[in-house]
Amino acid sequence: MKKVKKLSISIGLWLSVCILSLTFFAPVNAAESAIIYEYKTITQKKGEAFSSLLEKAGLSHTEKKLVDDIPIFHKAHSNRQFRFAYQIEKGKKKLKEVRVTRGNRLANFVLSNKNGKVVFTQKPTQIPSNATVKKVTLTTIGTDKTQSVSAKSDKRSNVIVVKPTRMKVDSVIPTHLIGVSFYQAKGQSLDQALSVAHLSKLQENIIKDGNYLKKAVGKRAFKLYFQMKGKKRLLKGVRIIRNKSVADFFVKDVGDRFQLVSLKKTDSSTRRQWERAFAKAKVKFIKTTATAKKSSSGKRSSGKYQVLTITQKKGQSLYSALKTVRLTSTQRNLIIGMPATKSAQSTRKIYVLLENNYLRGLRIVRGRNVAEYVLFKYKGKWTWANEKGQIRSNIRTSSRRMGRFPLRYIRVSSPFNLRRRHPITRRIRPHKGIDLAARHGTPIYAPANGIVRFSGRQRGYGITLEIDHQNGYRTKYAHLSRIMKKARRGRYVKKGQMIARVGNTGFSTGAHLHYEVIVNGRHRNPAYVRIPGSGGSSGGTKRPAEARKAVKQYLSILRRLSR
Ligand SMILES: [Zn+2]
Repeated sequence: MKKVKKLSISIGLWLSVCILSLTFFAPVNAAESAIIYEYKTITQKKGEAFSSLLEKAGLSHTEKKLVDDIPIFHKAHSNRQFRFAYQIEKGKKKLKEVRVTRGNRLANFVLSNKNGKVVFTQKPTQIPSNATVKKVTLTTIGTDKTQSVSAKSDKRSNVIVVKPTRMKVDSVIPTHLIGVSFYQAKGQSLDQALSVAHLSKLQENIIKDGNYLKKAVGKRAFKLYFQMKGKKRLLKGVRIIRNKSVADFFVKDVGDRFQLVSLKKTDSSTRRQWERAFAKAKVKFIKTTATAKKSSSGKRSSGKYQVLTITQKKGQSLYSALKTVRLTSTQRNLIIGMPATKSAQSTRKIYVLLENNYLRGLRIVRGRNVAEYVLFKYKGKWTWANEKGQIRSNIRTSSRRMGRFPLRYIRVSSPFNLRRRHPITRRIRPHKGIDLAARHGTPIYAPANGIVRFSGRQRGYGITLEIDHQNGYRTKYAHLSRIMKKARRGRYVKKGQMIARVGNTGFSTGAHLHYEVIVNGRHRNPAYVRIPGSGGSSGGTKRPAEARKAVKQYLSILRRLSR
């Protein structure tokens, strides 16, 4: 064992020496002899905006777009690490994979061709374990510790540590500035107010990260100052005016990011210079959209109401479709939480009703099919009701997980992977379901109503159960220890009904549930697909007064403006 280790270390050292010498003396041949990868690691801090992470990672515009479309939560609930893997070929860097780790959870996404479109799809890494890898750790300032730690630990392997390149510090106070100004109405979100200024994501984040009250207590004016560099507008300063009080900020480059710094915190000469630059700037006033009568394509408004039009193309994720219009992340998440399906079987139009920039309703049109929803507060929680004012009853009492998984507690021991390679034969042996770790005898519940189509033994699957649900959905349960009497073939099962117990029958190396979801004959990832009729209870619907009121108030406006 030890000998082998030593050998691999020396090979590693040798390799890295080789690569170093190759890149220095014969860079053309380097690409021929070996594929080199570069891993760029960066941490998304808890609560940090995704856009800010992408900015820090220094991705190109195209790369940013691709990464942005990865189906993960954009908000980090706790610190998580992103690893961008580039393939270096003939001196060119190509982004190939993105890995996200949080605690002991890991998700890897590989850039692949899906129906002629290049997208990141969740797959295990395709980079061979013996590949030559160059590591770059991007750290925020003041945490040089991690750098030295990684440098130390990397000494033993075939890794070259490259110090991050930082943005140049620009301490000169600009003299020629141009400006834009606009109002933030009382109670209006900063996001909405900023939307009129057409800022880049980075610029928006600089302003949003600023240390001042984000909500407007009363109407206030924003003035943003830019310096032109070619065709680019570089944000240099921000002035916020409310009644007679003025707060000035300048944009400071603090190494790896930009920050708003109050002029009050600078020395008097610096402050004067900035104030002079602000005063000299030509400022253009922008009317806010709420008062703008003119309707542009994709946006129609009437008084305080506005309808945004989104086209979700066939196969396009709802998430990426929502990115085409200006919505806050909260609004986007609320729309994603609507009870309709998230994927488009064919191109559909989604009309979003906003009242004073508050999300109120949705109208989804696909050919002749129309679905309408209104959003309202119900028991302190934003809730969607359909056009009849109905909501699902006891959403709260039915466990959320029950809708997706047939077990009470979920721990995925092996994920869904249609391109899984057999660990020994290296041949592709798809894993068409997910494995849920559970003790022998753990009860399994029906995730939705259905009819048992198969119960009995199947070769490698052991004791197996298959249930047919609505709309061509089928679920399959394998390696069971037993099937309940009321869940034998031909029986009708209800959502939440106990149907079987976890076991270790068939080709199984330990008690677990192998769970599959099949939609119209195709295997889908149970972690993503929702089974119809699983969301609410089998109990039906409710029509609270608040929902009826919201329908009355918003539906006709939504219909009128979305025509
Ligand atoms: Zn399995």
